[in-house]
Amino acid sequence: MDKHQFYRDTWAEINLDNISKNVKSFKAHLPDQKIMAVVKANGYGHGAYQTAVTAIESGAEYLAVAMLDEALALRKQGVSEPILVMNRIRPEYVSLAVQNEVSVTVFQKEWLIEASAYMEKEEKPLNIHLKLDTGMGRVGIIGEEELHEAALLIRKTPYVVLEGVFTHFATADEWDSKLFEEQRKRFINQLGILHTLGCKPKLIHSANSAAALRKVEGPFNLVRLGISMYGLSPSMEMKKKLPFPLEEAFSLHSQLIHVKKLAAGDTVSYGATYIAKEDEWVGTLPIGYADGWQRRLSPGAHVLMKGERLPIIGRICMDQCMVRLPFKMDVGEKATLIGVQQDERIEMDEIASLAKTINYEIPCLISARVPRVFVKNGRISENMNVILNF
Ligand SMILES: *Cc1c(COP(=O)(O)O)cnc(C)c1O
Repeated sequence: MDKHQFYRDTWAEINLDNISKNVKSFKAHLPDQKIMAVVKANGYGHGAYQTAVTAIESGAEYLAVAMLDEALALRKQGVSEPILVMNRIRPEYVSLAVQNEVSVTVFQKEWLIEASAYMEKEEKPLNIHLKLDTGMGRVGIIGEEELHEAALLIRKTPYVVLEGVFTHFATADEWDSKLFEEQRKRFINQLGILHTLGCKPKLIHSANSAAALRKVEGPFNLVRLGISMYGLSPSMEMKKKLPFPLEEAFSLHSQLIHVKKLAAGDTVSYGATYIAKEDEWVGTLPIGYADGWQRRLSPGAHVLMKGERLPIIGRICMDQCMVRLPFKMDVGEKATLIGVQQDERIEMDEIASLAKTINYEIPCLISARVPRVFVKNGRISENMNVILNF
């Protein structure tokens, strides 16, 4: 049995050509910056490995993930480019990072002290990126004193190389944010302090997608691209002022597994919340909340069939949901839940708005149960079916 084959009637299509276009657009927009492709959370649901390879082929030089496991998975699949783990790893796993040439994020002096106990016999250095909290309030070194202590400790800890220093913006996706400018200034100030302490990292980075789109001024030489590499805008506010078009890479499809005619008064799904007013055609799609097609999307969400927008009716179940059809259709008819059919389009942002969230969350939540079909150079290049991937 081919572990990449899939047998269900629901799939996500990942257009790697669009990811490539987006990375190239950023290269043209920021010719002096290196690109770090952020492929955490299985590439925001787009496939970490395939996205990483495509981004690298298109001009990215670095990769970033949230945790060590994600970095090790990429190494196992043969990815050899530099990878940064952006969350904290446990000090005792430091040799795993060294052996696999994975750079790690540091924001505690205690971490350096603890980790150094595990490093003494290492042949290769540990590459670290020092994370500064300039206003995000999540993780990072805060204030001058902490910065001094960390810098001195880094300098005197053997086997540790300060490869990078970075910070993260909390409000880069809001045009009139004062905090954004304050964070930028604080970061530049802290970089000055590091410099006087003799710390001269190769990589200095602050920008996520939003900051990269609007450009941040400063001595930075790398941007960390996540959401907009996948063709999605970091916020609705920014969507109106994008410096170049972003091409959505993720689309979601299913096909009818059942078609029936309801009579007036017949009901659909749990709770019998949908009641037919007249004779009407209803189709069943094999996708539900266990696939990440959230229950709260109905009523409200539509699907595209034969180029028409059709409403999902009744409650979304774990594995299935129902669509009202304008006429009888055949079992096997394709439905697009996110994406384009003829002149109609359902964007990720439409689904995010119905789910009362941001576009980031939607592809992340499309579960491993939904196989991914990758399109590269205009053709299907491979499938990923995690369920059969034993
Ligand atoms: C996820 C993440 C990014 C990417 O942000 P986008 O808004 O998706 O571009 C950048 N930096 C850090 C620290 C992150 O955690």
